[in-house]
Amino acid sequence: MTGSNPTTQNEIPFKAETKQLLDILINSLYSDRDVFLRELISNASDAITRINFEMLTNHQVIDPDAAPAIRLYADKENGTLRITDNGIGMNADELAENLGTIAKSGARSFLEAAKEKNAGSVNDLIGQFGVGFYAAFMVAEWIEVTSRSFRPQDKAAKWRSTGSGSFTITDAEKSDRGSEILIKLKEDAKEYTEEFKLRDVIRKHSNYIPYPIYIGDSEERVNAETTIWRQSPSELKDEDYEKFYQSFTLDFEKPLNRLHLSIDAPFQMYALLFIPSKPERNMFSLRKEDGLQLYARKVLIQDYCTTLLPRYYRFIEGVIDSEDIPLNVTRETMQANRVILTLKKILAGKVTDLLKKWGTDEKEQYAAFWKKFGVFICEGIVTEPEAKDSLVPLLRYRSLNHGEEYLSLADYVLEMKPGQDKIYYILGENLDTLRNSPHIETLKKKGMDVLLLADPFDPFVITNLEKFQDFSLVNAATEKFSEDADKKDAEAKQEPALDESASQGLIQRFKDTLGEKVSDVKTTDRLVESPARLADAEGAISPEMQKMYHLMQQDFSAPKKVLEINPAHPLITRLAEVTDSDLASQIINQVYDGAKIMDGETPDQFAMLTRIQNLIISLLDQQKT
Ligand code: ADP
Ligand code: MG
Repeated sequence: MTGSNPTTQNEIPFKAETKQLLDILINSLYSDRDVFLRELISNASDAITRINFEMLTNHQVIDPDAAPAIRLYADKENGTLRITDNGIGMNADELAENLGTIAKSGARSFLEAAKEKNAGSVNDLIGQFGVGFYAAFMVAEWIEVTSRSFRPQDKAAKWRSTGSGSFTITDAEKSDRGSEILIKLKEDAKEYTEEFKLRDVIRKHSNYIPYPIYIGDSEERVNAETTIWRQSPSELKDEDYEKFYQSFTLDFEKPLNRLHLSIDAPFQMYALLFIPSKPERNMFSLRKEDGLQLYARKVLIQDYCTTLLPRYYRFIEGVIDSEDIPLNVTRETMQANRVILTLKKILAGKVTDLLKKWGTDEKEQYAAFWKKFGVFICEGIVTEPEAKDSLVPLLRYRSLNHGEEYLSLADYVLEMKPGQDKIYYILGENLDTLRNSPHIETLKKKGMDVLLLADPFDPFVITNLEKFQDFSLVNAATEKFSEDADKKDAEAKQEPALDESASQGLIQRFKDTLGEKVSDVKTTDRLVESPARLADAEGAISPEMQKMYHLMQQDFSAPKKVLEINPAHPLITRLAEVTDSDLASQIINQVYDGAKIMDGETPDQFAMLTRIQNLIISLLDQQKT
């Protein structure tokens, strides 16, 4: 009789963290206990994948011809459930090692998350993490694992535990290769002896396991017959894809988009790729690393293959299956494999095409993608010069005239004003500041649009582009706007500007007051609404470079700026007439601080507040008289 007589010999204690995990699982009131079956079936599937892989190079194994199979046997009378596989198996040492400690599974992250929660809410966490083999203790009084390793010389062994503190390892009789998990079900878990229940759980959680799952000795496969990526897209519904994505990643949100491909030339390949719901992988995701799952002739040869897509597309999840990839290709030889390199090129092109089409057909959904994943595209432009041209159409920006909308460079060009021959942008940290920037007043007045670049990587991308179609991309802050005819009319309604000598006098006052704070003071005719702006000195490093340096080196301090004043602005014209030198210097400092604020910088707030209060007092004094 199996398992009815717990032995006291060879008791091996669980490691401390395994104990903690078991305590939580045994006492859990988690409502979706079905996930234990998913864990055991996924272990069985992993074990079969590993023996397939082993047999690529080694035929000295037990049962070399066994067809992969996972079987579930329910015994109502004894209240047990048995799960068998003909995978790689384990010898006594491996049993003790693998089922005594916490493997690399989600179990460890689960424990960490559980520590931060109180006992009651831990239950909610269980389903979100793949807690692995130990999940079976949610439904088990005891568990016995009998296993026979693939190595002919290894003996069969049995692991047994009630989940409380320790386990035993004993010799066992088992002639065929693989593992058998026997679970004595708890009184309240007898539903797992019902065939319909088992079928239901398999379809729900393990439908896309690549090996057949049977109930009992029946030859009727319960899980989906073909791997979904080998099916024709016309046979599949959105739901099918979503279910597969969910079981593949354990992401409970829908993917943003997908690409299902089947090609025959120059090489044969199936690909099913997803843009996940968000760039960050959940700690409970089944996908632990970047990379695609790679099957070659139905054998999983790499779980995380990073050589099949360019690095900037590493956020993509999915499966590649090809008859043409040699089975013995390793991580190292991949980089140089001609088939892989060709497939990579094709895949990258297809993904880019998908994104391009998405961006024109469904602008809003694409914008949502861009917000989350745009940074990867930007990285591609900066780091892979040969991919640049193909990626530029994927770029999106916010602009002065388009509120929250995202524009492509092509959209911008379509709306350019007659005679406009440049694409204007402005750099900063904050969209609101940029929208009100004094640097773009000239353009604003003419109704021209300006791209607002407020993301930290924008300066890197923009300096990489220089041109789009035939139009150069220019920073509105550094661009010199040439005099044009309509300008004079536009200014007619403003008050007359200061004349040359008044300007010179005022400039000198500014210089005396501001001293070292600025490199120079000048008048400018490019401002409309603002009294002044801070501009880069002639020959200074560009604002793009300044931003890049600023990001890359902490102690970078920007070069001093030139204060350009607007001689037609009422504040400036009146300032020129002020005789009280103390009042004048307060106003000058205020103009300077104001220009800083318009660039998104923070002036000395205390000094500024004191100054404003003083100005108000003098204003009130005037009222009295
Ligand atoms: P994970 O699957 O994430 O490694 P588990 O707790 O599910 O974590 O399993 C722990 C380890 O036990 C596995 O890594 C594997 O080495 C071993 N194992 C579990 N089930 C089987 C099985 N059916 N056949 C062979 N080895 C198994
Ligand atoms: Mg597992």
